[in-house]
Amino acid sequence: MNNKTPEQTPWRVLIIGAGFAGLGLAMQLRRQGHDDFLILEQADEPGGTWRDNHYPGAACDVPSHLYSFSFEPKLDWSRRFAAQAEIFAYVRQCIERYQLAERIRCRSEVAEASFDEAAALWRVTTRDGAQFTARALVSACGQLNRPLYPQLPGLERFAGEQFHSARWRHDVALSGKRVAVIGTGASAIQFVPQIVPQVARLHLFQRTPAYVMSKPDRAYSRSELALMRRWPWTQKLDRAWQYLFHEVRGVAFFLWPALMKLQRQRVLRQLARQVPEPALRARLTPDYPLGCKRILISNDYYPALRQPQVEVVDTAISEVTEQGIITADGQLREVDVLIYGTGFAASDFLAPMRIRGLGGLELNQAWREGAEAYKGISVNGFPNLFILYGPNTNLGHNSIIYMLESQFPYVLACLDKLDQGVRYLDVRKPAQDAWNRQVQQAISQSVWEQGCSSWYKNAAGKHTNNWSGFTFSYRRQTRRPQWADYELVR
Ligand code: NAP
Repeated sequence: MNNKTPEQTPWRVLIIGAGFAGLGLAMQLRRQGHDDFLILEQADEPGGTWRDNHYPGAACDVPSHLYSFSFEPKLDWSRRFAAQAEIFAYVRQCIERYQLAERIRCRSEVAEASFDEAAALWRVTTRDGAQFTARALVSACGQLNRPLYPQLPGLERFAGEQFHSARWRHDVALSGKRVAVIGTGASAIQFVPQIVPQVARLHLFQRTPAYVMSKPDRAYSRSELALMRRWPWTQKLDRAWQYLFHEVRGVAFFLWPALMKLQRQRVLRQLARQVPEPALRARLTPDYPLGCKRILISNDYYPALRQPQVEVVDTAISEVTEQGIITADGQLREVDVLIYGTGFAASDFLAPMRIRGLGGLELNQAWREGAEAYKGISVNGFPNLFILYGPNTNLGHNSIIYMLESQFPYVLACLDKLDQGVRYLDVRKPAQDAWNRQVQQAISQSVWEQGCSSWYKNAAGKHTNNWSGFTFSYRRQTRRPQWADYELVR
């Protein structure tokens, strides 16, 4: 065991964030026999997304056999698409199995980190004033951790309760209440069907309708669970099949977006079957290409919207008052509770931390035109900083866990390099530029550039979030670091 106190110096690696990314890397470090790491976690407990998003109906829209670590399989997922509680339990199980609790410092939000070139160390300060140093710093904060609240005039005046889906207030009873929900993204389509049976009235404020496909979800039967327990390779087989099934969809996302037109007809036929009322159906029919925004899956969203107590409002919100919401046509809808399903500040990677690299360069400044990183991991001028699930590594078609598992060995190889007499590794600017040119060029041909707004782009329209191709191609490109693309300072 490594017995140094957290603030004794320096750590081999400090990891920011104890979600899937940070924990997965820590598990890999443990597997390699390394103990010299510490995870700084801002919240009271680890778990990332699956700790924060406990709204009613929260579940993963990627099948669990695929949305779990390949090196830590769970053979008894209760259903194909596990709900939040089961995924959160899996995360806690990983922490326990790899004895990570002693390596996680909770309530430790990183405020600042700066690279001390002379000492080749990252100096990190948390909001509570604690200071840490480390040879390498890994950001594992994810892309979807900071709730985004709409900028609407009068919001502060609203007299009722209001909260964001990622900060769900279970203490606010919705039963018999008049509720407004703003947003119709992946989160809202999961919690809206859950709350509809309770509320007296639900006004769902939709700015842009989403494409919603059916969710091939079901509980695993006892015989299936017994089979996987008896022959764990059957679960691996299902995982491989799920991977291929999802990966093939990439063809329509970034090779031949025209294929989405065929699929769109199928989705619209499904909508027509589920929503026979022409007026409501028209309101729910997207007018942008399928796949441009994240494709959603649900079996209960459309049926919920057909309930008599539900109103889908597609007139823009102009103002919030003490009593409720006024739309552009001047109509006031009085409500008791306001719920934001308005998503996350996804393109502000690492914000609001102040990260300073060589010569005091601020990451905000380096990213003033939008976040970018070589292979989504390294940023020129920020040596020994490695980003997990960083810029341009999100997916529209497959599991992020697969991307993380491509990044872990890459980061581990960089850490090993630092043990071999290299003081710091700084990715070369031309390598970073070339990588980003290639990614942006590929994305410009993809369905994400076919006419819609989405959290995949920043305010200036630069695609900062998505990976531009197949996940196996990303894995090939991250198989091992190309040291020629880095300046190795000895
Ligand atoms: P989101 O997809 O970004 O959706 C936000 C919704 O709020 C959109 O409908 C958006 O409308 C609307 N909105 C935002 N600002 C608004 C404003 N000022 N006025 C009116 N409407 C506004 O957010 P999310 O649903 O939380 O999902 C975010 C991501 O989290 C997903 O894409 C997915 O990657 C992940 N997620 C995954 C799961 C899962 O099952 N694995 C579940 C939930 C979330 P516009 O479309 O017009 O912008």
